[in-house]
Amino acid sequence: MDAGVFRAWIRSAAEVIEANRDRLTQLDAAIGDADHGVNLSRGFSAVLGALETAAPGTPGAILTLTGSTLISKVGGASGPLYGTAFRRAGRALGDAADVGLPALAAALEAALAGVQQLGAAREGDKTMVDALAPATKAFSTAVAEGAPPRAALDALAEAAAAGATGTIPMQALKGRASYLGPRSVGHEDPGAASTALILGALPPLLPPSLPAGADDDGTLSRNGGIRRDRGREGPPRRRRGRRRGGRR
Ligand code: ADP
Ligand code: MG
Repeated sequence: MDAGVFRAWIRSAAEVIEANRDRLTQLDAAIGDADHGVNLSRGFSAVLGALETAAPGTPGAILTLTGSTLISKVGGASGPLYGTAFRRAGRALGDAADVGLPALAAALEAALAGVQQLGAAREGDKTMVDALAPATKAFSTAVAEGAPPRAALDALAEAAAAGATGTIPMQALKGRASYLGPRSVGHEDPGAASTALILGALPPLLPPSLPAGADDDGTLSRNGGIRRDRGREGPPRRRRGRRRGGRR
């Protein structure tokens, strides 16, 4: 995955945050101070501007700039936490022009470690960690088992989404929601919800993994699988080439 994929990810994450701004703010209204959607929407639009202006050329530099911008533009708890996550991930990727699955897994591990170091939340505390930790685990496992890229990213996104809804019955032990004590039970954590949205923006940027036994592109394009799931920018050219090369 090259800089084009990472730029497309951040752009797509910004769009999905914008589209869900009110929902995130409502979640935060229930157990916080009703600013999470607004905070992130402001932050990600600043990120898009910064990426446009500075035009960082590597995946690592893109994530690092994303993180620094979130830290400087988003107040509250989530700005520094998301900012740290993206900066740690960016630092872990170094200046590689192309990022493979193991490097991305290591970057996610670094992001999670950064969030936990800063916020001291553990799984079960009803925070973004409850989406990020299982997602990171599922992705690392999928990569270790040799899953193809899209399948590994699907596992990441699905675990994040399940982790976010899994916060509903939890009582918050960290952050503003913890002030509510038992009254925080019964609501999805806004930061876990936004984490699921941000990670969920990643898989559609790659073409779906071919099911075992699928015959050439025909099978998938006939049922619409590839076209429907393709990200706005389509899969990176390099991957198309590689797959063609491997199949003929
Ligand atoms: P604030 O709580 O300052 O208003 P936001 O509303 O933007 O900030 O973000 C709230 C989210 O931040 C929570 O839903 C939770 O997921 C996350 N959060 C808060 N404190 C922590 C923490 N210590 N560790 C991890 N995540 C946290
Ligand atoms: Mg808030």
